[in-house]
Amino acid sequence: AKMQGRNEIRAYSGDLVAKVSTHLSIQSDLRKALQNGEFQLFYQPKISTRDASVKGFEALIRWVHPVKGLVPPNQFITVAEDTGQIVEIGQWVIETACRQNKQWLDEGLVNVRVAVNVSARQFKEGNLIEVIESALASTGLKEENLELEMTEGVLMSDPSTGDTLSELRSKGIAVSLDDFGTGYSSLSYITRFPIDTIKIDRCFVQDITIDSEKAAIVSAVSNLSHGLNFNVVAEGVETETELDVIRQLRCDEVQGYYYCRPMAAQDISEWLRSRSA
Ligand code: C2E
Ligand code: CA
Ligand code: CA
Ligand code: CA
Repeated sequence: AKMQGRNEIRAYSGDLVAKVSTHLSIQSDLRKALQNGEFQLFYQPKISTRDASVKGFEALIRWVHPVKGLVPPNQFITVAEDTGQIVEIGQWVIETACRQNKQWLDEGLVNVRVAVNVSARQFKEGNLIEVIESALASTGLKEENLELEMTEGVLMSDPSTGDTLSELRSKGIAVSLDDFGTGYSSLSYITRFPIDTIKIDRCFVQDITIDSEKAAIVSAVSNLSHGLNFNVVAEGVETETELDVIRQLRCDEVQGYYYCRPMAAQDISEWLRSRSA
């Protein structure tokens, strides 16, 4: 048993070393990525369940790595959060999304909000208000065309987050609570925070057509959210039958592969043109 324990420790520390070294290599790669402009934003529309109109877009970061190709965010955002690089990356995301949305507006393609995901460290160390103000000023986008998405964890990470969000909301920026249902808090607790929209996590939408418990949860969240004056978005809608159920449960908007996968800005422009044609 003793030997086994020692092997386990060795195996564990081996894993740890491997983990730390990939972490370090991602960190230095991220530094280069920022310098060389290797990040790209994809966009995914949020669609009204009532009339299928476009209600907004979520900006989702991609890393176009010179060797690895298109790297999804779950492979580097956590590292960037740990190292603090997310502050600089997040600033780039805000500026780029604002510039893109202003371009769509100027082209007359769409007049909606673009939503960016924000991490806890952007609140704590990132002068988020100044970053947003300067992005709006330099791109000419209005507050009414910007939205922030964050998880409960981000909301609760720091006591001052609520104040920062209140200030941003008073200027006209909207706030969405991301991945709802995966955290620990209740909707009544959520009313303490200044938010506009609840995004129901994809795990409740998956199998909703065959899982009556999930449908019951989405129904309850949707009804309670409306009672509390929140807008409700269902994430990860992939099929028409899922859309039908979500619509019956009175969610306001859907986001998911059924309507559109996240795409590069040029592809979204084409998608918008083909819909209006
Ligand atoms: P999220 O904010 O919950 O974003 C939604 C994720 O669901 C996206 O994954 C999107 O591509 C995916 N998705 C959308 N519709 C469907 C669907 O119908 N089916 C399935 N299976 N998936 C769908 P993605 O783009 O890989 O992003 C993963 C996460 O990375 C995001 O989750 C967000 O937490 C984080 N992230 C992305 N961009 C940023 C960013 O700019 N800053 C920060 N801090 N985090 C970001
Ligand atoms: Ca999000
Ligand atoms: Ca989400
Ligand atoms: Ca998520």
